Amino acid sequence: AKQQGRNTWQWYQGNVQRISRRNVLLRHDLQVALQQGDQFELHYQPVVEAGSGRMRGLEALLRWHHPSRGMVPPGDFIPLAEQTGQIIPLGRWVLERACRDAAELLADGRRMLPVAVNISSLQFRRDGFLEGVQQALAESGLPPELLELEVTESVLLDGADQAITLIDRLKALGIRVALDDFGTGFSSLSYLRDLPIHKVKLDRAFIQDITTNRSNAAIVEGIITMSHHMDLVVVAEGIETREQQQDLVRRQCDLLQGYRFSRPVPLARLKALPDRLPEPADDR
Ligand code: C2E
Ligand code: MG
Ligand code: MG
Ligand code: MG
Repeated sequence: AKQQGRNTWQWYQGNVQRISRRNVLLRHDLQVALQQGDQFELHYQPVVEAGSGRMRGLEALLRWHHPSRGMVPPGDFIPLAEQTGQIIPLGRWVLERACRDAAELLADGRRMLPVAVNISSLQFRRDGFLEGVQQALAESGLPPELLELEVTESVLLDGADQAITLIDRLKALGIRVALDDFGTGFSSLSYLRDLPIHKVKLDRAFIQDITTNRSNAAIVEGIITMSHHMDLVVVAEGIETREQQQDLVRRQCDLLQGYRFSRPVPLARLKALPDRLPEPADDR
């Protein structure tokens, strides 16, 4: 047992070392990427009206094309960038790019879609955040009503009052705020009541097995009912099947997002998508 314990420890240490070495390298590469700028790209995923599948909005999702590693998923580098503070310039880039892209879509005249941008808590709480948002809007010409910011409950960690004040100020400017990944972590129903948000996004974890897991279905149903009583719009994330869509339509969910309708795609491909999703051809 002792021997086994030591082996396990060595295995663990080896892994920790490998992961931290990889992270040191990634952090450095991230710095280079931030200076060059052209390794990042935003993809856009449609958000549709639950019943009709009509496109009602977009979520901007960051992609990093690493010169040797290929595509590094945001789940791998966003947490790193949060640790090092690199999320500040990176988040700024995302905000500016998304506003410019949404303004371009608007100018094309075919689509007037609000764009949602994910904001890390560190970025949100940082002095000057609001001014940065206003600047991105001013430089792009995007109307504030077409910008939505997605935050998670972690914005509340260092003082709920400050977060509430900031959301109120954003709201006064016409910018809407959504609570992302709701239902995971320490999500409390009182957040829905206390935060001046306009939308709540149900985490994919609840949606995955909604047609078979009665407890998750009950939680989802409860959140939808309560949110509607508080005049909040409800979005379900990670819809992959027709059954999941039907289930959520039945439960009065307002908006849906997921591979069933479209994966996140580059701006050019987004422009070519039909207004109603999924396209008949991939109606699984
Ligand atoms: P999120 O904001 O909850 O975004 C939704 C994630 O679910 C995206 O992953 C999206 O590609 C994925 N997804 C959408 N539909 C489906 C589906 O039907 N099935 C499955 N399996 N997945 C689906 P992605 O793009 O890898 O992003 C992961 C997370 O990284 C995001 O979660 C968000 O927290 C963070 N992130 C992405 N871009 C940014 C950014 O620009 N800034 C910040 N701060 N965070 C970002
Ligand atoms: Mg999001
Ligand atoms: Mg989410
Ligand atoms: Mg998330």
